[in-house]
Amino acid sequence: MSAVERKIIDGKAFAARLVETIRQEVAALKAAHGKQPGLAVVLVGEDPASQVYVRNKAKQTVLAGMESFEFRLPAQTPEAELIALVARLNADDAVHGILVQLPLPGHIDSAKVLDTINPDKDVDGFHVINAGRLAVGLPGLVPCTPLGCVMLLNDVLGDLSGQHAVVLGRSNIVGKPVAQLLLAQNCTVTIAHSRSKNLPEICRGADILVAAVGRPEMIKGDWIKPGATVIDVGINRVPASEGKTRLVGDVAYAEALDVAGRITPVPGGVGPMTIACLLRNTLTAFKRTHGFG
Ligand code: NDP
Repeated sequence: MSAVERKIIDGKAFAARLVETIRQEVAALKAAHGKQPGLAVVLVGEDPASQVYVRNKAKQTVLAGMESFEFRLPAQTPEAELIALVARLNADDAVHGILVQLPLPGHIDSAKVLDTINPDKDVDGFHVINAGRLAVGLPGLVPCTPLGCVMLLNDVLGDLSGQHAVVLGRSNIVGKPVAQLLLAQNCTVTIAHSRSKNLPEICRGADILVAAVGRPEMIKGDWIKPGATVIDVGINRVPASEGKTRLVGDVAYAEALDVAGRITPVPGGVGPMTIACLLRNTLTAFKRTHGFG
């Protein structure tokens, strides 16, 4: 492996190893107790990207030895009907994790639906109770993509204490929870966003740079401190040759690869960690429900 190749953080391989450890633990718990974790995924409407995500989630759930429950509702489903389904899943003992695929159609209040999910089954970690638990350092369910970012960082850097982490983006699903997790691991955390000034200068101060802005290749090579670890959360589809499209991250990858110490590619970096962490959260919820270790 060349020096450049060694810089690349292989999220796909790490996620595969994580899923395998989850599968083994699920099998052991099933053998010992005769119970298995169950994950319910709810999709409303026909958004093509969401359909792909839901299909992948169901497939991975089954491969990990868990039970998968899939609910596909028409786009015009009334909000009350969706909330009634979530309430039924809250009460179902075979269901340990509930995921309502976002985005929901415009006539449905997403926050209201997400807050109907029992926080102990909220495997996406988006419920305000879980956001609050994360903020005050109580055990809860942590959003999957941020959890995946920090697991990759721990894998390549070990202890993160004292590292200056810059998080670009402050969304509730990525930026804020990543920042909270890094703070909990004793990083010095700077959160930057669309109103921040001197972004290149802020980024150049980062030992760890997490990019979650949704802007294709915005972060240039000369924004990165030599040797820094770069986690690129962005998934952006851009035009390629012959009318095709390709996926790029929020970081100008080729430039960044010259400067960074370690970097996640897009695709194959953070992306695969999201489903792996969803399965991890489902296993966590299952074990807490039944009081298994
Ligand atoms: P949001 O659009 O919700 O948030 C984007 C954040 O970036 C906001 O805080 C915004 O600031 C900030 N921002 C936008 N433009 C700029 C700019 N020019 N300069 C500085 N900050 C800027 O996105 P998400 O957090 O949901 O997602 C971020 C990216 O991560 C997307 O590409 C998404 O596809 C990807 N993603 C990948 C996942 C995975 O599995 N790998 C999972 C989830 C998301 P402000 O708050 O001021 O508006």
